[in-house]
Amino acid sequence: MSLRSICVFCGASSGANPIYQEAAVKLGQHLAQQNIRLVYGGGAVGLMGVVADAALAAGGEVIGIIPQSLKRAEVGHQGLTRLEVVDGMHARKARMAELSDAFIALPGGLGTLEELFEVWTWAQLGYHNKPLGLLDVKGFYSKLGAFLDQLVEEQFVRANHRAMLQLSETPDELLALLQNWQPLEAPRWQGSKPD
Ligand code: AMP
Repeated sequence: MSLRSICVFCGASSGANPIYQEAAVKLGQHLAQQNIRLVYGGGAVGLMGVVADAALAAGGEVIGIIPQSLKRAEVGHQGLTRLEVVDGMHARKARMAELSDAFIALPGGLGTLEELFEVWTWAQLGYHNKPLGLLDVKGFYSKLGAFLDQLVEEQFVRANHRAMLQLSETPDELLALLQNWQPLEAPRWQGSKPD
């Protein structure tokens, strides 16, 4: 699968350890070097700002999507290739998904998890067939991975849906996993687009 545009979900905070910012820099640089457009939430704060700045500094294209209500709080990034201001959170997520061929979550908080899980459930329902991945900085997502495996064991999540979420500690390996990912043949339910 050829990936021209990737959406990155990540914290509006920087986290307790500089390794998170270092990972955001590496991912931003790697996307730019691979000529892959970065789509993200448009903020200049936390890991959001770090990944955007790193991609821009490496000559990459960066599109930010931000709701009017958050433009001030997240300090809408002024130096992007394009900053789109939308009506609300739902419009933001729909637009980020529309513009992207795949999704990556860096470490983050509730917003990051919510964005990841929403787009994953859209895939489960067959609204799209785009791969997802976690950048597992020093095991940040390992407990989540174990919990997701438990959901499969308990038969609340299908193994093929669980397998949609790739995980790696390095941007280049994660990108390779996403590129090689084979779309699901049969989603849980067939749909056309999120309401
Ligand atoms: P966080 O991971 O909580 O730092 O948030 C990362 C991004 O998700 C930021 O752009 C937030 O504006 C956004 N966000 C925060 N809370 C929510 C939510 N409930 N639904 C959707 N996005 C959110």
